[in-house]
Amino acid sequence: MCELIRRSLGLFCLAVGFSAFAAEPVFVPKAAKVTDNVYAIVGPLGQRSEANAGLNANYGFVITPNGVILIDSGASAHSAAMLEKTVKEVTPKPIRWVLNTGSQDHRWLGNGYFAGKGAEIHAMAGSVKTQKASASQQLDNLKRFVGAQLVGTAPRQATEVHPSPERSLVIDGVRIQWIETNAHYPGDTMIYLPDSSVVFTGDLVYVDRILGILPQSNVRKAQAAFQRLVALNAKHVVPGHGRVTDIAQAKRETGDYYDFLIKNVGAAARNMDSIGETLDKFAKPTQFMHLENFGELHRANMNRVFTDFEANP
Ligand SMILES: [Zn+2]
Repeated sequence: MCELIRRSLGLFCLAVGFSAFAAEPVFVPKAAKVTDNVYAIVGPLGQRSEANAGLNANYGFVITPNGVILIDSGASAHSAAMLEKTVKEVTPKPIRWVLNTGSQDHRWLGNGYFAGKGAEIHAMAGSVKTQKASASQQLDNLKRFVGAQLVGTAPRQATEVHPSPERSLVIDGVRIQWIETNAHYPGDTMIYLPDSSVVFTGDLVYVDRILGILPQSNVRKAQAAFQRLVALNAKHVVPGHGRVTDIAQAKRETGDYYDFLIKNVGAAARNMDSIGETLDKFAKPTQFMHLENFGELHRANMNRVFTDFEANP
């Protein structure tokens, strides 16, 4: 939640992180069956902390005849081991393939742990590019939130790199359609499993909490990717953050919000309206105000969209 504030107000975020930690229960990841052989591990909605080991995002796995495909590898070797333990509660099969949906710390910094146990690490080219560019900064930032839990974590990018923007592949009999979204970070992706009608959206979709627009985010690409998501017509949606859901909730809490930002804030910037008046005018969209983190993020989100559309009308 503090991600975007962190850059400009590091101290403030540390304070928030600390007070949240004081009352935060220790997070024990649990597997929840989505359908057939597909499972989700839903992380908490708040900021990274020692109590949640940086697993404040969603993960998933697919049990195949000869092993397990893990979707996203955790924020450190420490948290990767936690995910591995969670998978073991469901199946004794080894994690043989790891797929990264994106480049944020908690999506890929556990790669080295699984590679060390012989897993193949897969990602799309755009994600790998962003991972490489941001690895050292991510480790520095994450250290402030999870401290000693980072010991033993070495950034390790995928060895199986798939060309963007879209790729179909089969892993141990499981068909995978891999689609670039570029929503939250450049090179972000979603992973669709047509045989079980499940889509892991990565940070394209947030439910239960408001999504964050970062300087690196692209709301126009996110809107286009959301339309692509809708066209997949998947029965089960595992969002980047929030409960496992369907496309209707994803649309209400994410797709409609992208539309809202573009239609109102983007249009105002194109129209060269005043930024202050625009942010005030759209400060209270009742359809999104119930979402967690709304108070902290909505105005900053609008600010980012306004600036983006001003520079690229
Ligand atoms: Zn995220």
